[in-house]
Formats: sequence, structure tokens, C-alpha cells
Amino acid sequence: MPNLLCTGCKKPMEITTIRHGQRPDTSNPRRLIGSAICRDCDTATGFELEDNAIVYVSGKSGYGSLNTGLSDIVKTLYAEAELCFQMGAADASAAMCRASIETALAQVGFKDNNLFQQIDNAKTAGALDDIEISLAHGSRLITRDAIHRGNLIVLSDIPSMLSATVRILNKLATKI
Ligand SMILES: [Zn+2]
Repeated sequence: MPNLLCTGCKKPMEITTIRHGQRPDTSNPRRLIGSAICRDCDTATGFELEDNAIVYVSGKSGYGSLNTGLSDIVKTLYAEAELCFQMGAADASAAMCRASIETALAQVGFKDNNLFQQIDNAKTAGALDDIEISLAHGSRLITRDAIHRGNLIVLSDIPSMLSATVRILNKLATKI
């Protein structure tokens, strides 16, 4: 079995000994998604395993830095999205990305009954550019699948969602 490097202390961990937080990927039964807690430093590392090979490892990398002018609630929701990703909880991470965008849109005045309408209102007002609107709708559709339709997201889907979320939130921060 392969060794997984701890994202905290970088020590190798034996995946065979992991009993924590594993589930199969329903769209690819050969793939296993899990989270391992390091015995040395207690850091969680999310991973994807396919046929006993590590195909993806979570960890902090450059998704961009949040504008400090955002509200504490938005910053907290986004921070939890990154934490969920580092723990290997892809669906929870996507849900928190969505929550942070919904909240930020409402805080700059784009309140509505649903996220589709909120994004559309931001588009009409010119608060987000065409790419940001597309990213917001993409994130909305993916998280809708995870939250409401039982389609699970994999860990490797998350980094692009995190960086899209940072881009959208930072643009909204300039509208506060
Ligand atoms: Zn460690």
C-alpha cells in the first residue's frame, strides 16, 4: 500500500491502518475518498485512492487570499470550506463555498429567494463580470447536485471551486 504524506508534519502515514472517514465514490466504485489523522501531529489529510494508488491529496495551496473587508461571517464560512477540504470532506466543502457566496451576495444587497436569482441580480447590476457570473452559476449547479440531488463531489473537484469562490467573494468585497 502507498504512503500518504501528512499535510501538517510531512511524515508518511500508512493508509492500510486508516479506519476513519472513508467512503466509495459512487460515480467510480474503484475510487475511495477518505481522511487520515496523523498520529504525530493530529493534522487531517484528505485523500483519494484508486486501485491502491493515491490519486489525489488535499492540502492548502494558493486559492487566493480573501479581501479583509468581507464580513466575519463570510470569512468564517469560507474558512470552513477550506477546512472541510483539508479534512477530506468534499461535499461539506462545496456546501460552505455556496454558503459563503450566498451570504456575501445578500450582504451587498442582492437578496432573493434563491441563489440563481441572487446571481442574476448581481449580473443585472454589473457587480460581477461575465466570468464571475459563470463561475458562480457553475458553483451553484455543482453544490445543488451535492446538497439536493445526492450526487457526491470528489476531493479533486474542490480546489477550482475554492479559487472561484475567492474570486467572487473578493469582487463582492469591492461593492460593500
Ligand atoms: Zn503529521
